[in-house]
Amino acid sequence: MLKNIRIVLISTSHPGNIGAAARAMKNMCLERLCLVTPRHYPSDEAAARASGADDLLARAEVYDSLDEALVGCRLVIGTSARMRTVEWPMLEPRECAEKLVEEAQAGEVALVFGRENSGLTNEELDRCHYLVHIPTNPIYSSLNIASAVQVLAYELLLASRQDSVADDEVLAPVATSEQMESFHQHLHQMMIDIGFADPRQSNKLQRRLRLLFNRARPDKDELNILRGILSAAQGRKSMRR
Ligand code: SAH
Repeated sequence: MLKNIRIVLISTSHPGNIGAAARAMKNMCLERLCLVTPRHYPSDEAAARASGADDLLARAEVYDSLDEALVGCRLVIGTSARMRTVEWPMLEPRECAEKLVEEAQAGEVALVFGRENSGLTNEELDRCHYLVHIPTNPIYSSLNIASAVQVLAYELLLASRQDSVADDEVLAPVATSEQMESFHQHLHQMMIDIGFADPRQSNKLQRRLRLLFNRARPDKDELNILRGILSAAQGRKSMRR
């Protein structure tokens, strides 16, 4: 199941960290490294730090945006050096690994790591169903990114050795990351069109709705029904105009 788990690193500044993350992954039997707008890549320093994991590094996929790196994913978990005050559901590393391994039996899943200096933006967190925080010293909670990859990759390896899902249990198909994104864009546009939302408003409301739909985990058919309702509401508005 580990092959369905992608490790996504966003805008990594130090190429050495990319190499060290690749090494941590290969040690723990993970294979798929996705780099979103890395600052310096490819790089000799990354290759040197990857050591014997240079094959994994050479296969790393490079993307221009997080959305592109998440195409096809049914579950996305973000990592956070801080306990966030906002309402993203938080997981412990062990629960995170069990969830990813379980869901990886039904499709692609992703674990997303942020920038060395500033972590993940709120817009990036919006793509995540859950956040995972590695417990630390409360006054010094930020691990080096490759160390964070190592800890969570180790938990993934342990989780993959357990039978988390019984053979006859089938996980429901759910919409993928890009299908959810286009639904949210449609929902937002409809709310503006019918005068419910003001485009100048903060996106707090939108974020609450994302959390709601992330809990519901609709499948593609359910999203199509919802999108039909959105289109009908937009159509009725334009008929009134
Ligand atoms: N100053 C940044 C620190 C980022 S550390 C901030 O406050 O967000 C770089 C990345 O390493 C993080 O985005 C996360 O992906 C990972 N990381 C570091 N410490 C972590 C921790 N305790 N738990 C989970 N991920 C962590």
